[in-house]
Amino acid sequence: MIDIEKYLLSVEKPVQYMGNEVNSIHKKDFKVNMCLFFPDIYEVGMSNLGIRILYDILNKVDGFSLERGFSPLEDMEAVMRENNIPMFSLESRTPLKEFDVVGFSLSYEMSYTNVLNALDLAGIPLKAEDRGEEYPLIMAGGTCTVNPIPMKRFVDYFVIGDGEDVMAEIARIFIANTDKTKPEKLELIKDVNGVYIPTIHRDKKIKKAVVQNLDNTEFYANQIVPFVKIVHDRVSVEIQRGCTRGCRFCQAGYTYRPVRERTLEKNLALISKSLKATGYNEVSLSSLSSSDYSEIGDLITNLEKKHGKNNLNIGLPSLRMNPFSVEVAEKIQSGKKTGFTFAPEAGTQRMRDIINKGVTEEDILETAISAVKAGWTNLKFYFMIGLPFETDEDLKGIKNSCLVEMKE
Ligand code: SF4
Repeated sequence: MIDIEKYLLSVEKPVQYMGNEVNSIHKKDFKVNMCLFFPDIYEVGMSNLGIRILYDILNKVDGFSLERGFSPLEDMEAVMRENNIPMFSLESRTPLKEFDVVGFSLSYEMSYTNVLNALDLAGIPLKAEDRGEEYPLIMAGGTCTVNPIPMKRFVDYFVIGDGEDVMAEIARIFIANTDKTKPEKLELIKDVNGVYIPTIHRDKKIKKAVVQNLDNTEFYANQIVPFVKIVHDRVSVEIQRGCTRGCRFCQAGYTYRPVRERTLEKNLALISKSLKATGYNEVSLSSLSSSDYSEIGDLITNLEKKHGKNNLNIGLPSLRMNPFSVEVAEKIQSGKKTGFTFAPEAGTQRMRDIINKGVTEEDILETAISAVKAGWTNLKFYFMIGLPFETDEDLKGIKNSCLVEMKE
């Protein structure tokens, strides 16, 4: 175990390097261990739903231990470099180099350099070809792996698509084959759904792994409760996966196809279990478009009935742009109505049609009017600029559409 205690008081937010949070898992008895590393700081990484799901599910695999790792802030990195402290995991503060597998979650391309920095801090050669048997297998998963090419020199195997079933299957294969070399292990997992191994598959097209039925996946109710405020500091439950829309710019919309809903009963059970296991009084009903969940009304009504309207804050991170979303938001809003956020994405109908946004001028107006009538006085609009085929008219349209909406 790496001793970092003596340095902690000299760095910002030391608690992010300490581990031992409520519901963290410290396995002593295992055959294979892995550090799941989120290449960003703790507050961001701990808010990632994929990390929460995999942490719980993979630690339920007998003989497998999954620990977490996050990028240090600059001050901590300086301390680590100055004192030759290698990048370590949170649970047992084991150097990354000593794990059987180090897995990186690639959620956005901007984090790629953090992956390389983490490997460097860990004393692990960056390129796969330079890593012998003394180093761990390096794995990568997450939405960005739909295009593994930019990272293929650094990664031994990718898991493309939904990770929970595939990674549990790979964990079991590794447990049954601890005596094998790294190339032999890669050979054993090469036909697992969604696995891409650059040295074996080369240009072969790989079909992403898809969890067919969210109801059949293991529950991940025991979410970790951090000691420090994180970006999404609440229970997060994925009520459905995928999005029915096909906005052309949206990586997640394409990556998470098809839409799969968890049943109302299972969602209620998972949320109740998670609230009990964590002590949170706030839950985020996560998905790419939560108001499209076919039983969203019943889900909210049942949650409020069970937990009491004033005892539970319900968050809906993403709402479709229509008056029904305003109704849903009104249902869960307790107290002051601060701001309502819409995402028309582009300022003219021409541009919205090009990006396949599926939102008309009328939709925007109706939604804005419903929100104002329901008591929201601050409306926030998200627009993107720099889209392909964009003209000056489309940019002026951003200002104009806001003005029209405000006049109304
Ligand atoms: S509605 Fe949102 S999540 Fe769905 S495809 Fe469009 S941008 Fe993506």
